[in-house]
Amino acid sequence: MNYQLIRSKRKTLSLQINNNAELVVRAPNRLSVNKIEQFIDEKSNWIKKKSQSSQSNILKKPSYIEGEKFLYLGSEYSLSVNTTHGKKLGFDGQVFSFNAGGKQEFLAWYKAAFKKIALPRLEYYAKKYHLNYSQVRLKNQKTLWGSCSGTNNINLNYLLIMAPMSVIDYVIVHELCHTIHKNHSKDFWHLVEQIFPNYKADKSWLKKNGHKLQNL
Ligand SMILES: [Zn+2]
Repeated sequence: MNYQLIRSKRKTLSLQINNNAELVVRAPNRLSVNKIEQFIDEKSNWIKKKSQSSQSNILKKPSYIEGEKFLYLGSEYSLSVNTTHGKKLGFDGQVFSFNAGGKQEFLAWYKAAFKKIALPRLEYYAKKYHLNYSQVRLKNQKTLWGSCSGTNNINLNYLLIMAPMSVIDYVIVHELCHTIHKNHSKDFWHLVEQIFPNYKADKSWLKKNGHKLQNL
């Protein structure tokens, strides 16, 4: 059985089936491969079951054809492909449309939408709670929704514009709180909660649905 092994200072073994239906094994630094594989053996039924259900969860990449659905602010909207539109992707509040195109057109549209809709939220929270950041950059990195550097430069993943507004707000508040606390300490989460009391629901939404925002 193929698996990805991640060793660390942890004390116990853990198995996880990731969003790509691959087995990820987390193990203590010094535990022998024999012991690890014995454990995998013991859990083979669980692994089989999990990876089958994960496989059926793997999203099909879009083909950018008529009627396909695309996320924006947590809702799905159909794509219309018709010759009366230019190549540039448009959105009228109900339907996405272009005459031809694909991933690049959607990336450009999502980035522009993030600038218009989400960046003012960053301004709003920064001003209201006196959380000063230096610069903000928009990125599109797999697995990373936001980050805040030691010099308080904030990176935000513009694909977040596909998520509900409260999830976007949560990530923004999360990164702004890192301008004060450079870690995920109790104090950090306390500050997040003060500003954004319902953050736990949005945090778990992102954990559960994040892969859908990467499916372009
Ligand atoms: Zn963080």
